[in-house]
Amino acid sequence: MIEKIEGIVINEKPYGDTSKIIDIFTKKYGIIGVIAKGSRTIKSKLRSTTERLTYGIFSIYYKENKLSILKEVDILDTLKNIRKDIKLIAYATYLMDLSSQVYKHSYNDTIYDILISSLKKINEGFDSQIITNIVELKYLDYLGVMPNLSGCIVCGSRSVVTLSSSKGGYLCSKCRINEPLISDKTMKLIRMYYYVDIEKIEKINISDQIKNQINLFLDNYYERYTGLYLKSKEFLKKI
Ligand SMILES: [Zn+2]
Repeated sequence: MIEKIEGIVINEKPYGDTSKIIDIFTKKYGIIGVIAKGSRTIKSKLRSTTERLTYGIFSIYYKENKLSILKEVDILDTLKNIRKDIKLIAYATYLMDLSSQVYKHSYNDTIYDILISSLKKINEGFDSQIITNIVELKYLDYLGVMPNLSGCIVCGSRSVVTLSSSKGGYLCSKCRINEPLISDKTMKLIRMYYYVDIEKIEKINISDQIKNQINLFLDNYYERYTGLYLKSKEFLKKI
């Protein structure tokens, strides 16, 4: 039986002489491996619709716990602004890799929605670093290492003055030792990153200084607490 499934191609690898196996992150079945027969031949209709970042409705001959077979693809959004910008491709690649890892850790359907809405926002021209940081912060929850955002990590006090990636959250003035102070605005924004619904973001107005402070915190925090190592992240840091 053929099923129509919404999803996005997050990985592709050659199979045999003319085919490909693609990993599709789907809303319905999570990440599934699908064979796209003949998709590496020039004439194939599946040639361009089985590349990474293809977002659409996949008509699949679905087999549980086996390789399913791809029949055709209806594109939902070409994400064309991402595709023409090497920097945005790097962000999208990292978001797909990260989402895949986080999904394998928690098997939560919401991860698919977060991935798709973040890619759409980046495609619409929203700041790719900020959108990525919002996703990273939300994913800490699914990875089971969310920092405490309600008060000082040591004593619980609500009047916090800084954020420490090594201690894993906010600190109040008494518990702070030599961590540099961080503005109230930065700390409020980190909470906002966590609670905001990406799909509903209409504008972003954040200074470069604050944006970079949050990015640095997340980089350090990810290195220390998540155990994830992604090549696409290393690539992103270089550009
Ligand atoms: Zn404290």
